[in-house]
Amino acid sequence: MRAVVSSFQRGYKSAPVFFRGKLVESQDTPERLEAFIAVVREMNIDLIEPPVIADALLKSVHDPGYLEFLTQAPRRWPDMMPGLTCLMPNIYPTRHFPARRPRHFLGQAGYYLGDTASPLTAQTWAAALGSASSAAYAANLVLAGEPVAYALCRPSGHHAHADMGQGFCFLNNAAIAATLARTRHARVAVIDIDVHHGNGTQHIFYDRDDVFFASLHSDPDMTYPFFIGHADEIGAGSGEGFNLNLPLEVGSGDPAYLAALDIAIDRIRWFDPGFLVVSLGLDAHESDLLGSLNVTSEGFVEVARRLAALRVPTVLVQEGGYTVSEVGHVLRSVLSVFAAASKQG
Ligand SMILES: [Zn+2]
Repeated sequence: MRAVVSSFQRGYKSAPVFFRGKLVESQDTPERLEAFIAVVREMNIDLIEPPVIADALLKSVHDPGYLEFLTQAPRRWPDMMPGLTCLMPNIYPTRHFPARRPRHFLGQAGYYLGDTASPLTAQTWAAALGSASSAAYAANLVLAGEPVAYALCRPSGHHAHADMGQGFCFLNNAAIAATLARTRHARVAVIDIDVHHGNGTQHIFYDRDDVFFASLHSDPDMTYPFFIGHADEIGAGSGEGFNLNLPLEVGSGDPAYLAALDIAIDRIRWFDPGFLVVSLGLDAHESDLLGSLNVTSEGFVEVARRLAALRVPTVLVQEGGYTVSEVGHVLRSVLSVFAAASKQG
């Protein structure tokens, strides 16, 4: 197994975010990425610098207007609003507004950024592009014949829509990996085990029957992203039946989690994909500071065992996991299982 991280991701510091009524340092710290890198190095897994993702691949997942906003807004704001260090909307096109894109970049911020957990800084684009490049290259390694590869993505991607950033996410790394895999495989599955629903990935593939999406997450009635991720969201049009949400009661531990995982795995076997993308959030762990489930370290080992037993070429795409002192050992357990499984051939 090899791992991929871009130097453009290193040191990226998000602007402060709102948390429990206060503006605080983002929980998505640069130290998270360093913790992932430390694990990979300790395990003597080769760490590769990826080439920059192909523009055509990026545009096959993301809206050109949104990409232009991400690249151009930080260039425009020093002239229009001197002293501005980050862009966080103060208004969004909510339920009673038409979804019309304003010309002013502050209005566009509300149009293109879905919540206050995705403020834009002058460094965001480079880091997000680096993260997407890591996912694309890891997918390429697997397409070239490696059984598994690990993309150390940060910023994460699974809350990012084709045309909207949200929840620390700007470019949807898992969707990019899946889209690339679709160039070689008729059917691609994405399983999202982050504690938060993978709403961006769901939205991108919602009307498609060639990419099956399954998400295990904490009940959105009680947890972020709140408005989406329910069991009755099953896909639309030709995608009906190819979207599987398995919301879990807040506080659920290993038994409920593994039972839901088995349901997802059964459906993945039925779908018979040629390629699997795992949106590898570690924030369902019982120690996580943003999580609301109680999966143990042993539970994560079992999750990895059951996914590896699918014996489908797999790219692991890092998503959440916020307790820096704990994410390392959880990741080590997961990677060890996949590394051992890949050696068995
Ligand atoms: Zn998460």
